[in-house]
Amino acid sequence: MSNKKIILTGDRPTGRLHIGHYVGSLRRRVQIQNEGNFDKMYVMIADAQALTDNFDNPEKIRENIIEVALDYLSVGLDPSKITLFVQSYVKELTEITFYYMNLVTIARLHRNPTVKSEIEMRQFGGESIPAGFFTYPVSQAADITAFKGNIIPVGDDQLPMLEQTREIVRSFNRIYDTDILVEPKEVLPDNEACMRLPGTDGKAKMSKSLGNCIYLSDSSEELKKKIMGMYTDPNHIQVSDPGQVEGNMVFTYLDAFIKEDSFEKYAEIAKLDKEDDTLDKLKEHYKRGGLGDVKVKNFLYQILDAELAPIRERRKYYEARIEEVYKILEDGSKEAQKEAAKTLNEMKNAMKINYFEDKDLIASHVKKYENK
Ligand code: ATP
Ligand code: MG
Repeated sequence: MSNKKIILTGDRPTGRLHIGHYVGSLRRRVQIQNEGNFDKMYVMIADAQALTDNFDNPEKIRENIIEVALDYLSVGLDPSKITLFVQSYVKELTEITFYYMNLVTIARLHRNPTVKSEIEMRQFGGESIPAGFFTYPVSQAADITAFKGNIIPVGDDQLPMLEQTREIVRSFNRIYDTDILVEPKEVLPDNEACMRLPGTDGKAKMSKSLGNCIYLSDSSEELKKKIMGMYTDPNHIQVSDPGQVEGNMVFTYLDAFIKEDSFEKYAEIAKLDKEDDTLDKLKEHYKRGGLGDVKVKNFLYQILDAELAPIRERRKYYEARIEEVYKILEDGSKEAQKEAAKTLNEMKNAMKINYFEDKDLIASHVKKYENK
């Protein structure tokens, strides 16, 4: 087995990407890309997976592929360094999925907590879950292993998928007596708030499907409006009241986005007290009372606006070059397809379903019938 560093990640084209994606995964992908210490990096737009719960609305997927691609390019993913591709253009992934289905039981699939909560969220009653949706973790295992991805930067909702993938890899390698498949390892965000960034409404997870998002492409005005309307501490009514920091979205987002120089740059504009020059001190002040929501929200707005400004600028650049963006995806998909075909070929050899290429098999059957 090789010790190549191969990174694979992806996103479902069900909407524009939001700051949850950014802190959970995108920021890390860009960092790894720019450090350059890897052999290959693939970023996939998971349209086939998105169809598993949007099969009756392909238009939604069709409209959002370009949106996700624009978001990728605008955060700084660079097609000259990595491969951006569209899942459904790599046919090998469906074939690999089909073989993996044999290595997974229904009972095992039922134990996936992420899928469980997604099924609840989508209100598929009882057993009426589309089989494709229920089994998407298997197709995700195909996506990762087709490229021999071993470094997977994701939010913590993806941990069950990675566990499932490792199990499939071990089963495949054991049953077919090979070592061609590689066990992937997740790279989680290093900060608790980024693992699963909650929505602006305080709900468990910021998610395209829940409509509680701050999008990377939101304008400065939209951003301000969303931050000013954010869920804080409902019992913090007067400025003088003591406030809660836990479960207060403004502080959760500060945890996710604060930088070393944030206080130096923005404390004054946000009219924070001079003494409140670290996040811990700011939190203490809020807990004691005497610190108003508007000031903290304004501070967060300044920090986020500065982070998103260059992203918006790059988006504008690519919005004026849509055909070029489609070409990037097309070229990337062709390249990804070649790579997946290599792995599928190795897999079929290991599974001994390479009948026409296997001269020994044919010769042995010739022999079997020779003396009849
Ligand atoms: P959908 O609602 O369609 O499932 P989503 O918003 O959950 O969309 P995905 O495309 O499923 O987004 O997730 C892509 C990647 O972004 C995954 O690595 C996931 O862990 C990460 N991610 C998504 N939402 C968040 C979040 N709120 N906080 C941290 N990471 C997130
Ligand atoms: Mg999701």
